[in-house]
Amino acid sequence: LTIACGAFIIIHNNSEKDGGMIIDSHVHVGASVTLHTEVELSHLLNAMETNHVDKAIVQPLPGAYPSSEKVHEVIHAMCKKYEGQFYGLISISPFLPLNQVEDEVKRCVEEFGFVGIKLHTFGHNVNPLSPEGDLIFQLAEQYKLVVNVHTGNGSFGNPCLIIPKAKEYENVSIVLAHSGMQYFATEAQVVASQHQNVYLETSWSQAEYIDGLVSSLGSNRIMFGSDVYTSNCYNLAVELEKYRVLDISNEDKNNCLSNTAAIVFGL
Ligand SMILES: [Zn+2]
Repeated sequence: LTIACGAFIIIHNNSEKDGGMIIDSHVHVGASVTLHTEVELSHLLNAMETNHVDKAIVQPLPGAYPSSEKVHEVIHAMCKKYEGQFYGLISISPFLPLNQVEDEVKRCVEEFGFVGIKLHTFGHNVNPLSPEGDLIFQLAEQYKLVVNVHTGNGSFGNPCLIIPKAKEYENVSIVLAHSGMQYFATEAQVVASQHQNVYLETSWSQAEYIDGLVSSLGSNRIMFGSDVYTSNCYNLAVELEKYRVLDISNEDKNNCLSNTAAIVFGL
């Protein structure tokens, strides 16, 4: 009985009762014309409250409607209204006219205070090794932004495509969203093991695999992200549950659930 009670207390210490901070490093808001989905702020706020999530780093969806710029403005308004709860991450297709991309990144950093930028290998069909992929890294270096890279599905979803950029931009922190999304899980682990500026976000990964990442790379390289992308925000509870069941130390759990993201994004 004592052991059972102890286990119960530990489980709740990590996620609910004693206020161990939870930062969701990968959340979307707004609508998408390509994904036929929309995340409303009120639904996101409800899901965060229900699941005891304290902070979220928020980005537009690929196919952002009516435009990435408009959704960035919505995110900026959220960051202002709920100060310290939301942080913005830029997501704009690098195939748009160069001055449009550069102007928007400058605005999001200098006026809105955004903390990262997306390289959407799937949603924007960007090869990390193309000129448009390089543009994202150039802008990240210039404005001291974290690069969040979609990995897993899509023609350019192999995490190994990031290796040359991780070397070339060694001062830029790179987060591999989805940690290769199961199919490229081992590649994501190898890339992170070889490059200290590469971190892994774990949405769409198996709990067993997250467990292995923590023991092989260390919890200071792993961060929780839900990839909320639909109106019902199902992913938040589902992705958190993976951490709730993990048999890892409280320290590791706290690193994965908040400290790694807080440090990497400078929150
Ligand atoms: Zn996403």
